[in-house]
Amino acid sequence: MSAVDVLVVGAGPAGLAAGIEVAKRGRRVCVVDRNLRPGGQLIKQIHKFFGSREHRAGVRGVDIAVELLEEARALGVTLRLGWEVFAIRPGHRVDIVQAVADDASASERNALTETFDAHSVILAPGAEENALQFEGWTLAGVMGAGAAQTLINVWRVRPGRRVLMIGAGNVGLIVTYQLLQAGVTVAAIIEAAPRIGGYGVHAAKIRRAGVPILTSHTIVRAEGRECVEGAVVAQVDGAWSPIEGSERRFDVDVICVAVGLHPNTRLASLAGCRLVCSPALGGWVALHNALQETTVPGIYVAGDAAGIEEASTALEEGRLAGIAACQRMRTTDTKGDAEIAAIQRRLDDLRGGPFCGGIRAAKSGLQAEGGAPCPAA
Ligand SMILES: Cc1cc2nc3c(=O)[nH]c(=O)nc-3n(C[C@H](O)[C@H](O)[C@H](O)COP(=O)(O)OP(=O)(O)OC[C@H]3O[C@@H](n4cnc5c(N)ncnc54)[C@H](O)[C@@H]3O)c2cc1C
Repeated sequence: MSAVDVLVVGAGPAGLAAGIEVAKRGRRVCVVDRNLRPGGQLIKQIHKFFGSREHRAGVRGVDIAVELLEEARALGVTLRLGWEVFAIRPGHRVDIVQAVADDASASERNALTETFDAHSVILAPGAEENALQFEGWTLAGVMGAGAAQTLINVWRVRPGRRVLMIGAGNVGLIVTYQLLQAGVTVAAIIEAAPRIGGYGVHAAKIRRAGVPILTSHTIVRAEGRECVEGAVVAQVDGAWSPIEGSERRFDVDVICVAVGLHPNTRLASLAGCRLVCSPALGGWVALHNALQETTVPGIYVAGDAAGIEEASTALEEGRLAGIAACQRMRTTDTKGDAEIAAIQRRLDDLRGGPFCGGIRAAKSGLQAEGGAPCPAA
């Protein structure tokens, strides 16, 4: 068994920022990520980031990942890449497993697991994509927009020839643009809401590129025998029901689903953290206080796993969790207190924008031990 002061799950912006703060304080920290390449979502983001200048707005996400990684390495953060955290047991015992071939024997698998004994654990495993069920949704060629983005920007593989994008939030708009840059035709973006959810600047770029954005439209079915050969969409009424006679068919071989993300709460749930349902934060989320600590003492949550926001807030929450986890090991740390207060002010500012009202209120609600009682999962 290996001993560390802090074990961090996830090497996205939240996890790397947490690792950096812990290492700055001279504590032993290990950041574990199942991907071989660290950076989380950032490694797919080839566009220049929006947000505040203080939070690297104008820098490409993929470059932010490199900067964070260099800082973490220079400070001596231990990185375990290609390892997945699969269990958190009482007493902050964390089990990890290295990716293995499907045909590996039981003894080979056992040799590739390891247990960490940590004083604190920071959960920063990010988000998962929401699924959408419709006739034909299991055909090959129906995929999350995140999968399409990984294919084009990480693996340089086109997912297909012609795409229908479902969802006109920022993810749908940005991935559409990146598909066009990769040489894929996007037949249309459809959006069930009457308005586009993403930023106007992204929507304007899509329109200039000639891709129609059909609001108040939904998918009726995917057509094809073994893989997608077409998609039928229809206009929806005020109750979001398809209007008869409004169907249109698109000749596409890929249907991308970009209908939102939800926090990844698997490990938090396994560790016994109390979960609450917060629609503004993307769904179920581990209840956490203003220091990112969950209802299990010494287990913290940060970034998209603590509510769907942006890389800038993920960075700040990661820093906060890292400092708080170190403070747990000491009784007084006035420098840490001042840094925590400064981060909390920055988080308030980030959540003060016109698009963030719900998030700010939801976070304050959680922090006041609120949150709606969770409906059955
Ligand atoms: C298309 C798109 C565009 C975006 N554009 C912007 C933008 O312009 N500006 C902005 O601020 N934000 C943007 N974002 C949002 C931003 O990328 C995320 O908010 C941010 O990456 C969240 O950081 P995180 O560290 O919480 O999670 P992630 O970046 O998702 O990292 C989580 C990491 O945890 C790892 N992990 C998960 N489970 C385990 C496990 N059990 N064991 C080991 N490792 C695990 C994953 O492999 C991953 O590397 C965009 C997102 C998308 C999808």
